[in-house]
Amino acid sequence: MKIKFCGATGGVTGSCHLLTTLNHQILLDCGQFQGGKAQDALNYEPFQFEPSEVECVILSHAHIDHCGRLPLLMKRGFTGPIYCTSATADLLEVMLRDSGYIHEKEAEWKNKKADRTGRAKVEPLYTLKDAEKCLLQVKPILYDQLVELTPNVKIVFNDAGHILGSAITEIWVKEEDKEAKIVFSGDLGMTERPILRDPTIIKKADYVIMEATYGSRNHPKNSASIENLLKIVLETTKRGGNVIIPSFAVGRTQELIFEFNKFYEEHPEVKSQLDKIMVYVDSPMATTATEVFRKNAQVFDDETKNYILKGDNPLDFQNLRFTRSTAESQSLNMDKSPKVIISASGMCEAGRIRHHLKHNLWDSRNSIVFVGYQGEGTLGRMLVEGAKEVTLFGEVIAVNAEIHNLEGFSGHADQNGLFSWVAGFQQKPSKVFIVHGETESKETFAKLIKEKLELDPIVLTGVAEYDLDTYDVKNFEEAQLEAATDAEIQNLRQTISTIHSDLEKILYNTDLAMGNNLKADKLVRINNLAQELKKTTLNLGSVVTELDKGEKKETNAQ
Ligand SMILES: [Zn+2]
Repeated sequence: MKIKFCGATGGVTGSCHLLTTLNHQILLDCGQFQGGKAQDALNYEPFQFEPSEVECVILSHAHIDHCGRLPLLMKRGFTGPIYCTSATADLLEVMLRDSGYIHEKEAEWKNKKADRTGRAKVEPLYTLKDAEKCLLQVKPILYDQLVELTPNVKIVFNDAGHILGSAITEIWVKEEDKEAKIVFSGDLGMTERPILRDPTIIKKADYVIMEATYGSRNHPKNSASIENLLKIVLETTKRGGNVIIPSFAVGRTQELIFEFNKFYEEHPEVKSQLDKIMVYVDSPMATTATEVFRKNAQVFDDETKNYILKGDNPLDFQNLRFTRSTAESQSLNMDKSPKVIISASGMCEAGRIRHHLKHNLWDSRNSIVFVGYQGEGTLGRMLVEGAKEVTLFGEVIAVNAEIHNLEGFSGHADQNGLFSWVAGFQQKPSKVFIVHGETESKETFAKLIKEKLELDPIVLTGVAEYDLDTYDVKNFEEAQLEAATDAEIQNLRQTISTIHSDLEKILYNTDLAMGNNLKADKLVRINNLAQELKKTTLNLGSVVTELDKGEKKETNAQ
């Protein structure tokens, strides 16, 4: 068995690793390279393998640097299924369609320029149509479900707590009478973050492939930033100003909505002031992504589920408004009342946020609040670093508004988080491959786990291939037990886990759908569903009692 690291080796983008076994070629992620011209150019390069020979893709999550080249993979000959969690499948639809559209627009723009200069025309990396074709290949599966991709390859997706749907994948591969287990971390999230569950600790692996974006740093505490945000909102609006928050459409925006919902719920002392402040989410993509979040409440963490069970929709509150049309967006700049505007893109490189900055940067009553990492060379970075003026839409705008940079909002585990995740393996993996990070981050992290955990880390810095040993199955009795060799037991477990997930889905998602102003037809549908469920669960109750009785009899007999 071999593993070839084809992307996210020199930096943090383009995640793509090829697993070659005796009979199969399986791709882990197929991400786009991002961050400047040199990285962009890599996307047009041939793949490090023949796309038509890849049997299937296992996708860790819906961020473009992990999924953005999937439509291209298909364009170049791949025809197999793409496995991911169902929440990732829902988000993928938003992300890939948007990405296809952007590639088309970019090519259009370049070709207009090419016309004028007489240069050759360019072809988009892929189009919206290519993206839509690719979405048809997506096979959503549930978390914790053991799925047989082929008779020799089984996988389980575990929550990675990074964005909605993100997964840590356990992969069991059998080659003749030997086998090995590989764990692919994908991107790992921070523990104790809102909405999402903590990254799952995996106990066993022969080989680990893990990210190390923050392998050399720890994040400041997030709680102080949340308090700060409330303070900034109250102070800014009191002096008649607006609060503008550039935010990533997927993930960060929903986290902000969750925190604002809490402000309104948990701060009665400032309720009268908050009641006068409207919060606008002005990004069509963020709006769609929020709908996807609401649809997937069954994968939220317990805190968020408890909100739902208490009857509160954690991703909604009275003063929240979503603006879709351009006209609605523009009217926000006419409206003089103090407000909060959350808009994309997070680094201010594109999107509606640039209009809001143009209209708000010059006025010293306003505040601009950054809640995410600002890449080098971006407008966001210039503002955070104290630029006195910036150019927007060809106009020089003075920066008079207060600029705040709230740290601690991060979708990525920091050094402590990565360390405790890899320390969770009870059986020491033979090797830990470290990808997805700047060289310094990866090296620092490798040194740390080598010294403290006596692991054998390998830092990837470019395309490279490694042989992976397989082990005698007899040495893996426990692993075998874990993977449930008996096909019947396995199937039964799978069925039960599917029912469990489906029930959770119905419970949390219908509760969310109910809200306060429920339409009559929806009420009827949910009521029917509830009655049907009630009947079935009453019957189930008696089945469970029967099972218990049987068990007691058996124990008595012994
Ligand atoms: Zn990610």
